[in-house]
Amino acid sequence: MIAHLRHLTRRLPAQRGRLLSGQQQQLRSASFLIDQPEYSFLKDLGLERDNPGVFSGHWQGRGPTITSYDPGTGQAIATVRQGNVQELQQAIGLTVEAYKQWRQVPAPVRGEIVRQIGDELRKYKEPLGKLVSLEVGKIYSEGQGEVQEFIDICDYAVGLSRIYAGQVINSERAQHTILEAWRPLGLVGVISAYNFPNAVFGWNAAIALTTGNSVLWKGAPSTPLVSVATTKIVAEVLRRNNLPAVVSLCQGGTDVGAALVADKRVNLLSFTGSCQTGRDVGVEVQRRFGKVILELGGNNALIVDESANIKMALDAALFGCIGTTGQRCTTTRRIIVHEKLHDSFVEALTVKYAQLLPRIGHQLEAQTLVGPVHTQQNVDSYKATIEEAKLLGGTVAFGGRVLERAGHYVEPTIITGLSHDASVVHRETFAPIVYVLKARDVNEAIAWNNEVEQGLSSAIFTENISQAFKWIGAQGSDCGIVNINTTTNGAEIGGAFGGEKATGGGRESGSDAWKQYCKRATITVNHSGELACAQGVVFNVE
Ligand code: NAD
Repeated sequence: MIAHLRHLTRRLPAQRGRLLSGQQQQLRSASFLIDQPEYSFLKDLGLERDNPGVFSGHWQGRGPTITSYDPGTGQAIATVRQGNVQELQQAIGLTVEAYKQWRQVPAPVRGEIVRQIGDELRKYKEPLGKLVSLEVGKIYSEGQGEVQEFIDICDYAVGLSRIYAGQVINSERAQHTILEAWRPLGLVGVISAYNFPNAVFGWNAAIALTTGNSVLWKGAPSTPLVSVATTKIVAEVLRRNNLPAVVSLCQGGTDVGAALVADKRVNLLSFTGSCQTGRDVGVEVQRRFGKVILELGGNNALIVDESANIKMALDAALFGCIGTTGQRCTTTRRIIVHEKLHDSFVEALTVKYAQLLPRIGHQLEAQTLVGPVHTQQNVDSYKATIEEAKLLGGTVAFGGRVLERAGHYVEPTIITGLSHDASVVHRETFAPIVYVLKARDVNEAIAWNNEVEQGLSSAIFTENISQAFKWIGAQGSDCGIVNINTTTNGAEIGGAFGGEKATGGGRESGSDAWKQYCKRATITVNHSGELACAQGVVFNVE
């Protein structure tokens, strides 16, 4: 059917003049995947051929219409009418009003609403996960896994709603008590990247709602259908509970994103995206003294020590470098191998890569392990980076080619022979390219791990306990995620997720990341009946 549709789409411009309008209509209809029986799961999610992309209690969208494409075939899926800046501003106003009601709801009752959102997601996991795969290009199991992450964080948030707490602090003054309480911030703006169009919103929304905030989301412009479908699921739970739109959506491009960042009514702006954009977002939010969570790019290294379990390291490299076709923020971009193992490791890795070649294919086909990259832009930066690497003296040990077929397919690529500080090695290229570097020892490998601007994820493969503890100590990895004997990618929701340096310093998801969605109130209660100053200060006129 896909081949048939491609055929139709290719014929369309040449035949346009000769077709009757009815036929034209039929053909145009046939060129949207949503109208095909195989894609009926899109309709199960409440999507239509043309979808409004703004929700703040009701659906609308007066901005430009954007077509969402399947990166695996280049075919149009459906369209979304984005919001404009005026609609964003209205949505902000309504979501702030919703917050005023929501903050009065007891935290465990808010948790109950989040539990219902998790249950609703369970109902729609299959079609929603498929849509994530279809729109991003990630394989079926990864699409399902992404929705599972949202479900997991909802479960986490339900528990959190009953246990997140402040503390009682001893006062130096007699009959005084100091309390510390965590209060909601107000409106949390979420701007997300294309590669995790569902889970990033989920991590933020589940915790922000539980702690009493309302949420306004702008998803990536190239994944608008996931934004709309996800919001519909959440909106249904809010409707059933007679709640106002404590979650709203305004799909849009840079203009809408920039207006959200600049708006003083947005108390916390959680931004996930590239370092370049994130730096500007951070400065802009700081300019108005807002709070910001920055979850930006990574340049993640996997170190293979002399003592490593090589089989495990190879398996980790395979998933780390090629999972999500190299488009996770935690993708392994550098493998730093002990000099004694370097050549044999590269050889073994290329054998594994070769086994994956027949598994490159459409993201929704059952046998596919390597789907397409998201857009032509990813293909272009893949090509440019490989050319630059070659000019710098690198050798393409595997891959390096764009596949000649419809959709955006590239070969997973291994590059050797580059200096650890070559320009391409220090840059995040959002494509399946890994640089294998040869290091003298673990100390040198750690220094190289730390010398890049980004500080998101890192891993060492070692059986040597001294090296392992050096790695996780103060002299070890400077990243937010510091793994031993497992991949750089694929984090669980229980830990805090995020990275240091140019990755932005933000933390989301588990551990005490919830504190970022709250303001801390330090409350001194005087129950002595007399006024007493701290530090023994005397200040009265008697
Ligand atoms: P991007 O920076 O191009 O876009 C991210 C979002 O920012 C989009 O919604 C976009 O519309 C919006 N945006 C663009 N310009 C803006 C502006 N001036 N003001 C406000 N918003 C603006 O990123 P991308 O290509 O969608 O995603 C890939 C990048 O995201 C990679 O660098 C990847 O490492 C990073 N990422 C990081 C994490 C993490 O948790 N650290 C997770 C996923 C992706």
